[in-house]
Amino acid sequence: MRERLKKFLGSMFYQKRVPSSLVFFGKEGIGKRALAFEFATALLCLEDKYPPCGKCESCKHMEDFTKKTQEELSYYGEDRKGKSVFLYLRGNHPDFVYLLPEKAEIKIDQIRGVKDFVYLNPALSKRKVVFVERAESMNPYAQNALLKVLEEPPQDTHFLMVTGNPQKILPTVRSRSFLLEVPPLTQEELRETMGIEDPLILELSEGSLQMAKSLREDKELLNTLKVLMEGHVLTLYRKALEVEKWEQDRQYLLLKLLQSFLHRRYVEGRDYKVKEALDRVSVGLEYLSRGIKPALLLFLLRGGGKDVLHKGKVSGQQQDISG
Ligand SMILES: [Zn+2]
Repeated sequence: MRERLKKFLGSMFYQKRVPSSLVFFGKEGIGKRALAFEFATALLCLEDKYPPCGKCESCKHMEDFTKKTQEELSYYGEDRKGKSVFLYLRGNHPDFVYLLPEKAEIKIDQIRGVKDFVYLNPALSKRKVVFVERAESMNPYAQNALLKVLEEPPQDTHFLMVTGNPQKILPTVRSRSFLLEVPPLTQEELRETMGIEDPLILELSEGSLQMAKSLREDKELLNTLKVLMEGHVLTLYRKALEVEKWEQDRQYLLLKLLQSFLHRRYVEGRDYKVKEALDRVSVGLEYLSRGIKPALLLFLLRGGGKDVLHKGKVSGQQQDISG
């Protein structure tokens, strides 16, 4: 699936029909940003290649960009009152700026800074690129300012926006952009990209590189999930009490994984017991930050004689779950 999207980008690139504004959207953690960054690198590549050549001066600057810290790349300007404000990230490439929220929002001053950049001529490459990470975090003022730029798109400048939530981008901005849905990775693609063989990790990750990485690194999280799915009462009891002591982020991740797992099971069988458990987990997720006890929730999931989590033999390598 990913290959098809790259092919499409490639044909757009070589037919010289790349729109001035592109929105890459899709689920969290599936590699949207990497894909868009690679495309940005290609647009700037002095050899005019997609995927980019990786060797020219422009490609070198782009590679260099990925290696620097945010602090090293932060670029400041002045707001209307002359106060110093964060604008964007900028490395050694003169034709590339990388916009991202400062704290929670991308603000209008940042778009003003971008405006100053886009009306300059490219200095190294044939084009310029404005990369916008978490584009949904542009506040309405920023979006309206951006709209003005998109209404008269400067020659040879491309806006590449990345978002997990395209609905938060104003319809006026969306309609001036080309929307590109990035599909989650297939299990096969995940296996190839990350070299993961455990079928349970591949299944639970649902095409998310980020999730696959968390599951690979956090053996205890994965183990806990296996225990919950295998449903041995005593180990479940002990594990649930352990989960109680976890950091909230990790508890959240566990419930999130259970939620997707139950959701898939419900879609397969339309079993009302599964639906009930799914609702409980969803409520649990909502109330986690307000102090609901995850252990209690996990016990409830076993509810009655029929264990809704149990799905027979758990896939993946068998681990010693009692240890
Ligand atoms: Zn190049």
